[in-house]
Amino acid sequence: MLIHLDPQSFSEEALLPAAKILQSGGICAFPTETVYGLGANAFNEKAVSKIFEAKGRPQDNPLIVHVSDTAQLKDICYVTMQAKQLIAKFWGGPLTLILPKTDRIPRTVTAGLDTVAVRMPSHPIANALIRLTGLPIAAPSANLSGKPSPTTAQDVITDMDGRCDMIIDGGNCLWGVESTVLDLTVSPPAILRPGAVTKEMLSAEIGTVIYGTGVGAPKSPGMKYKHYAPQAPVLIVEAEDAVSAVSHHAANYEKPGILCFGYAKEAFHLPIAIYAGDDEAQYAARLFYSLREFDRQGADVIYAIPPHSGGIGDAVRNRLYKAAGGKTIQ
Ligand code: AMP
Ligand code: MG
Repeated sequence: MLIHLDPQSFSEEALLPAAKILQSGGICAFPTETVYGLGANAFNEKAVSKIFEAKGRPQDNPLIVHVSDTAQLKDICYVTMQAKQLIAKFWGGPLTLILPKTDRIPRTVTAGLDTVAVRMPSHPIANALIRLTGLPIAAPSANLSGKPSPTTAQDVITDMDGRCDMIIDGGNCLWGVESTVLDLTVSPPAILRPGAVTKEMLSAEIGTVIYGTGVGAPKSPGMKYKHYAPQAPVLIVEAEDAVSAVSHHAANYEKPGILCFGYAKEAFHLPIAIYAGDDEAQYAARLFYSLREFDRQGADVIYAIPPHSGGIGDAVRNRLYKAAGGKTIQ
């Protein structure tokens, strides 16, 4: 079942069928401000296992538990002082916190870990849906495992049609990259996945925050897997003169594409050129959609010009490097 809702003006009644599905152990895709999620009742092990099945997700890759109210946390995790401070500042929003789990959360959700990832979205549809269920909702991104995360309902349909009980179309996602994952069970706190709540923003609130080894090399479960990859191979352009490096390299391909940032896309004279945006935030918002667009247009290789490090640029670089499996051209 597919329903279309305008996030700015929808009736909660329209969400009742989706809430019913979640309450009765089904799975439902819904929009959030980061990417589309595929949700299930986090207390229901059988429902949660349907998510792994629908996505083809390895069992050892834990899910994020979504809430609509901080009062729900007492059943999910132990909230530290630091967590309280960050929750007050950044929730609802694109920040996931790793905290010690309670016994009520099944290990299927946390992939056997004693810790659990929790987040409160700011998206009005996600929020209303979670509130209507009265449940914590375990949800990873609503893509097939390994593919770029979906940031439009069409991308969810491409991957999940026939694999879940309902898809809610709420338009395009605002941020376009998944939430920042911050591990608060280590000292200093470690970012396991960069996102729209940046290292700089977190440090301003709680002092020293480091990038966990997960950001560069795998540490957290799930991070060892190939991620965000379109069909065509992705190559990161780290060359000083991107135009000359790309045009040399692209001579080996029939239908090369360029994901362009900081250059006019025409400068590359390639059959497919997608403009990533005027700044890092736009790049983030368009990144996954663009990677899927290269596949739709039949690219046989994708060159991507990364943004500089810092701020949300770190999140874009992280996803690009994973999509490319670390491969660069100089
Ligand atoms: P999703 O947003 O699609 O892909 O997946 C959630 C991500 O959150 C996973 O890839 C994990 O890396 C991370 N995550 C969830 N739970 C934990 C946890 N308990 N410890 C560390 N990382 C986690
Ligand atoms: Mg994902």
